[in-house]
Amino acid sequence: MPLRRSFFHRALRSLPMPVVSLLFGLACGLVVWVVLDPVQSRALEEIFRSDLEARLDREAQDGFHRFEHYTEGYAATLQLMANHRRMVNYLDGFAWFDPEPAQLEVYLERWPDWMPEAPFWHSLARPSHVLLFDTQGRPRELFLFAGEPLPRDLMQLADLYLNESQIQVYLTALNGAPYLIAAEQVRDNAGLDVGSLMLVVPIDDAFLHASQQGVVEEQGVVAVLDGEEQRVLASSDPRALPAGSRVDSWEDKYLVTSQSFFDYQGSDLNLEFATFVPWGGAASTNSQILALERRQRVIAAAVFIAAFTLVMFLISARLNFVLRRLSRFSRRALGFERPPLRGGNQLLQLESWVNQFIRLVLAARDEMRSRHESEMRESEILKSVIMDTARDGIVTIEESGEIIESNATAEKLFRYRRSDLIGCDLPSLLLAKRSRDAFRQLLAACRRYPGSGAAEAPSQMVGVRSDGSEFPLEVEIVVIQLESRQTCTVYLHDITKRQRVEREMSNLARFASESPSPILRVNRRGVILFANAASEPLLKYWGVGRGQTLPLFWSNKVAESLESDRPREHEIHQGERIYSLLLAPVPGLDYVNVYGRDITEERLAEQQSRQHHAELVHVCRLSSMGEMSTGMAHELNQPLSAIVNFARGAMRRVRSDNFDNQTMLEVLEQISLQAERAGEIIRRLRNLVARQPPVRSSVEINDMVREVCSFVEYDMRKLGIEIHLDLSPEALPVRVDLVQIEQVLLNLVRNAMDALERVPEQRFLSIHTSAWGEDSVQVTISDTGPGIPDSDMRHLFEPFFSTKTSGMGMGLAISKTIVEDHGGHIAAESIPGGGSQFTLLLPTYMYETNSEQASGVC
Ligand code: ADP
Repeated sequence: MPLRRSFFHRALRSLPMPVVSLLFGLACGLVVWVVLDPVQSRALEEIFRSDLEARLDREAQDGFHRFEHYTEGYAATLQLMANHRRMVNYLDGFAWFDPEPAQLEVYLERWPDWMPEAPFWHSLARPSHVLLFDTQGRPRELFLFAGEPLPRDLMQLADLYLNESQIQVYLTALNGAPYLIAAEQVRDNAGLDVGSLMLVVPIDDAFLHASQQGVVEEQGVVAVLDGEEQRVLASSDPRALPAGSRVDSWEDKYLVTSQSFFDYQGSDLNLEFATFVPWGGAASTNSQILALERRQRVIAAAVFIAAFTLVMFLISARLNFVLRRLSRFSRRALGFERPPLRGGNQLLQLESWVNQFIRLVLAARDEMRSRHESEMRESEILKSVIMDTARDGIVTIEESGEIIESNATAEKLFRYRRSDLIGCDLPSLLLAKRSRDAFRQLLAACRRYPGSGAAEAPSQMVGVRSDGSEFPLEVEIVVIQLESRQTCTVYLHDITKRQRVEREMSNLARFASESPSPILRVNRRGVILFANAASEPLLKYWGVGRGQTLPLFWSNKVAESLESDRPREHEIHQGERIYSLLLAPVPGLDYVNVYGRDITEERLAEQQSRQHHAELVHVCRLSSMGEMSTGMAHELNQPLSAIVNFARGAMRRVRSDNFDNQTMLEVLEQISLQAERAGEIIRRLRNLVARQPPVRSSVEINDMVREVCSFVEYDMRKLGIEIHLDLSPEALPVRVDLVQIEQVLLNLVRNAMDALERVPEQRFLSIHTSAWGEDSVQVTISDTGPGIPDSDMRHLFEPFFSTKTSGMGMGLAISKTIVEDHGGHIAAESIPGGGSQFTLLLPTYMYETNSEQASGVC
């Protein structure tokens, strides 16, 4: 069974919905057809039959009425005949003889005088006999239309018909045949009753046919029946329905409707008027209607199935669309991957989809619920953590001020356990007396205007801990509107620290104004935003006040400092005072803080230091001069001796009068030259000895080397030192203090000579000058002395380090100071036993540097 079911299910799934609906519609139609068609056909036949019977009944009645109407026509005709002029004229003064039996005059093939013209019988069947009776009811005259004999039974019944004073129409059977008999009294001109006129009309096929005036059913037949025997007495179609046949023998062929003639007075027979309608005609009409109706049912069913299939097709198309949307939604919202849409029954697919979808939705709902619950739990935990780790004490109170909840911070803040807090009145327990009214007023205001910022603004109050200690609090109340009541959350913020910081901040704010040094704040446009009291001398010097703009030079400096985003230091000489101004930019805020510092004392100290240094240098120079005094004296002695010699030779020639002017002129020129030479030596000595202010000038290093060599030329010769000058052929300009650098060179040469003095032979001294890179000049002084031991090397430039018995130990120390003061460098190398070499580096003089050195000083 399951196998069959799954096969059926699979088959159903594989068929598209329109096909299923088509098959389903056809199957349903077939079943309905099989069940309903016979029932419906039968019902229709019943309806048709009853309808037919009713119709035939109606028609029978109509036929009967027509028959009656037709018979009434005979009464009218009889009356016309009785009152006709010919009849009245005939009877006027007429009288029949009265023999017994009465004599009967028969008109056969002869038109009686009392008889009107033939047109009387155009619309009515002609009577077979017309009789005239005398007043005693005896027949006197008889007119025969067709020569038929008078019905035998007529005379026995004549009295019955003639006794009526009114005209009567009778239906009766005479000799087994139906007849219509009508009688009327006739009168003469004087209105005297003469007798009666009687029409005898056989009710035969012609009569019946005429009675229906052509209205009777085409194939129908009307007949007069013997009601008792149910036999046909006469019919409108004797061939189809012969007289004498029984009615029940025709019921298969005809539908028979009969009505009694009881209304016809005097009729002693049970005659019936019957209508015979053949079944065949009605049945074929019925079957045609049934076939038509069946055709229409089939068409209606086909239209219905087509419409049903179309609707199902549209529904399936819509279902396809729904399926696609559902699958997209399930993929997007539920992450469910859509299996490919197969052909087949979309409704079943949708069903399985919907089932799957419902499962997924339920799973998603469960997952969401569990996620929501876990989120809620996390949220609760988070909230409680937030509450407990909040920096503020948070207390929830009732409208009355009664505490209903508190966080850990509140417990810590007031040093109470939670159980101690719950149920207590907040202001009474946690606030100082002087703050309680303020709290209650704040609470009332918050409750009155919940949500208004003003009421919830924090207010400063005083809190009380469980130990009675007080501390400043900031209190904020937020009203929470519940369904039936209000509760309030009170935020209690300990502001002890903040107040301390505020105090410190306010003190700090005074820091700048309390500073003894000038502090100013200047914006980009040079406007003084702030200047402390110590800035007054500066403001006075600039001639500006607070809120005014600095002089152009300083405004520019402020702008430059902001542009470069680097602090810059400048000096300002104000009378006897010197200030250093540090311009520190604050670019984000677009202003510059100016920190002033009085450096007058600093500068004085520096000047004094420089003086001391100069004096020391001078002393050293003098010391060197002392050491060189012999050589200097010897050098000076040479021009002086030459002058003396030239002067003596000139004197001798003048005394001996052996001279000419030319010779004398040459002698005097020589004397003059030697004197200038001596003067030059003295000038140089004076320069070295004189205490001169440091002046830097551009000089050629080679010249300086040569001059220094000239100072020691004598001593070198005396010591047998061979000097070798390896000077740069190109000019090496330096901007230095000539005297100081010559002192350095002289000191180095003197030290080399001292070292060479300690070696017995091979006393060589060489001086080399060259350019060092692009921006330095190098001077190296090498000797072939004993060199410098490693142990002495690191003390060489220290003050008072000397290995000589008469040495001061200041030469190299001062030399290093001088060289570094010039931006240069001095270094020593030594090969023990192989001599020493001192290297001096000085910056090459470059014209551009001149302006830079001048900058930064006002
Ligand atoms: P002083 O010449 O008065 O001793 P310096 O400062 O000029 O002072 O020299 C310090 C010491 O450096 C000298 O005592 C000497 O020992 C050493 N020194 C200097 N130049 C040389 C040199 N060219 N060769 C060997 N030693 C030297």
